[in-house]
Amino acid sequence: MFIEEIGLKVITGPMFSEKSGELIHSINMAETYEGKKVILFKPNIATRDGKNIIVSRTGLSRRAEELPEFITDEVIENVLENCEQYDVVGIDETQFFKGKIVELVQRLIFTKRVVVSGLNMDYEGKPFGKMGDIIAMADEVQHMYPVCSKCKKRRAIFSQRLSNGKPVTKKGQTIYEGDKESYEPRCRVCFKPPFD
Ligand SMILES: [Zn+2]
Repeated sequence: MFIEEIGLKVITGPMFSEKSGELIHSINMAETYEGKKVILFKPNIATRDGKNIIVSRTGLSRRAEELPEFITDEVIENVLENCEQYDVVGIDETQFFKGKIVELVQRLIFTKRVVVSGLNMDYEGKPFGKMGDIIAMADEVQHMYPVCSKCKKRRAIFSQRLSNGKPVTKKGQTIYEGDKESYEPRCRVCFKPPFD
């Protein structure tokens, strides 16, 4: 467990690696066993779980405050004020944040314990949003590995984008109405990156 009074832990990995579950677990542990005051945030565009809640794929859930996708100086000031009474701050789906998300995290980690979760790479196999910068600032990084959906024997680090069950071969390829878009975790051998 990451039990530093202040500092940053990042939980990262591909889709279906139970990052949100690990985040909720660490927040629950801090609250239950250390008596910490905890608060969770998520971007308001992460709508899969519903409003003001984070739900992990294996069933853990917890209330979360929503933040705009684009982090401005004003949002940073609001979050800092909001967090004053809390010891531990969690942020989910961090790859979606734009603007000054790195600055926000940097401002928090000298006075709070911060646990951030987010996707490592996008479907092209490139660093997702500002996750790389955030990982660089971390005291601890926990990489989550689901098993590869294709070979079922190696650990997955990529999120493969699929259209009707087949890998998307072109960048930004449109998925037409009626076609089924999906994602699955894949290992480096089985992952098919889209070309330009
Ligand atoms: Zn594989």
